[in-house]
Amino acid sequence: MMDHDCVIIGAGPAGLSAALTLVKHGVTPLVLDRGMQPGGQIYHASTNSPLPDRSALGPEYVNGARLVAAYQTSGADHIARADVWHIGADGKVLFSKDNSTHQLEARELLLCPGALERPMPIKGWTLPGVMTAGAAQVMLKSDAMVAEGALFAGSGPLLYLIVAQYLRLGVKVAALVDTTPRENYLNAAPLLPRALAAPSILRKGLSLLWEIRRAGIPVYRNVTQLEVIGDTRAEGLRINGNHDISADTIFLHHGVMPNPNMTRALRLQHEWNEDQLTWHVTRRAFGQSSLPHVAVAGDGAAIVGADGAEIEGRLAALSILCRLGQISEPSRDQLARRDLLRRTKLAGVRRFIDRLYRPLHHLRVPQEENTLVCRCEERSLADLRAGFGKGATDPNALKSLTRCGMGPCQGRQCGPIVSQLLSDWRKTSMSSIDYYRLRSPQRLLSLEEFSAFQHVTPPQERTR
Ligand SMILES: Cc1cc2nc3c(=O)[nH]c(=O)nc-3n(C[C@H](O)[C@H](O)[C@H](O)COP(=O)(O)OP(=O)(O)OC[C@H]3O[C@@H](n4cnc5c(N)ncnc54)[C@H](O)[C@@H]3O)c2cc1C
Repeated sequence: MMDHDCVIIGAGPAGLSAALTLVKHGVTPLVLDRGMQPGGQIYHASTNSPLPDRSALGPEYVNGARLVAAYQTSGADHIARADVWHIGADGKVLFSKDNSTHQLEARELLLCPGALERPMPIKGWTLPGVMTAGAAQVMLKSDAMVAEGALFAGSGPLLYLIVAQYLRLGVKVAALVDTTPRENYLNAAPLLPRALAAPSILRKGLSLLWEIRRAGIPVYRNVTQLEVIGDTRAEGLRINGNHDISADTIFLHHGVMPNPNMTRALRLQHEWNEDQLTWHVTRRAFGQSSLPHVAVAGDGAAIVGADGAEIEGRLAALSILCRLGQISEPSRDQLARRDLLRRTKLAGVRRFIDRLYRPLHHLRVPQEENTLVCRCEERSLADLRAGFGKGATDPNALKSLTRCGMGPCQGRQCGPIVSQLLSDWRKTSMSSIDYYRLRSPQRLLSLEEFSAFQHVTPPQERTR
């Protein structure tokens, strides 16, 4: 017999809104999240921010704290610092917490693992001092830490957001180097009318750009060539091959992609999405995956943003309620109507954003032979090219031959680069190249935590 009716993995906007919906209709979900507090990436530490004034992070962050607070008082069963490393097609979930392994079984699983930043393997991207814009955000949100005089380079809303947050806090920014290609503006223009269906998101983006312009920091636009300068650590950026900007901290960013490790290890069906240049989990309207009892919602399935993730969480929860027999199909459809409509509106603006900030191909794959692709196993472009020359023409063969992707991150960083390189070299589509075949455990485990096993009992049997 299954222990839990519904287990949600990930307490970002998708997982939180799903949990609230389930509770509202009489199902108490168990939510597992590896973070200290619920909130996910965007609402990280929103209810206990170390910043004296969290409004510097923007109105969404402040509003997000309300969602987190509603969840915290909802009665949903939450286990923090629970790092899930195995999910079986049989509904079995294994996770690490406090140096031991915990096991449970669920009738319905909702996966909301969120996004990762797209790797940007330019020359020097592995030098000390180079991080991602998301890392800048995490440091700011969780520890109120900033890097004075940092350089920000790349493109996309998240990059402009962190620059604006720094400026609001009075932190010096050396420059913003924008790699959005000029032609993207033209290519995105036909999608603008549909994007206007969600004007608040467009307004938010424009006001960020305006804020940065008003601050008067140096902004370099239409940059197509980027390299980090420095021998043993970052000393600055060379842009377009001839202009150097000094800084000892550089934050790179050119978009996010679904975190593939959980959904891939579970062997869910995925499909290549050319608009977002990433893999999506194949799903039905309410988020159901290729396994009937597993749904996926939010950025972990396809990039939809925080608003989209909340909507998807609610829709997936309604479908789960229906499968658990709590509501009928007609009630599910009735309750879902507004969210389905809003999701269509958001899809219009998302397509516009994807087209506008589509990253340059030569910033997605390394250009120099000695640039590292796999940071964990220190494998360079030259190592991969040599492996390909020896007949390793798919991601798994290349992994076996070169160890690229076998390190602690389990391919999170090199996976998309390897698939793209193979697609280029073989002159074939990403769909036919596919991705690494991932397996559990999805993270490094110590023998100690692996050998200490505990069963997670359902809430009604647990003394809380
Ligand atoms: C670094 C980063 C920072 C971002 N900051 C912003 C921002 O400031 N503003 C904005 O609009 N958008 C931001 N985004 C985009 C934003 O994350 C999403 O649009 C939105 O948060 C998606 O919500 P979600 O619920 O799908 O996923 P998330 O909010 O990412 O939540 C996923 C949750 O799953 C948990 N998780 C993942 N894997 C496991 C596992 N194996 N075991 C247990 N728990 C797990 C994570 O701890 C996390 O709490 C950011 C993205 C990234 C990658």
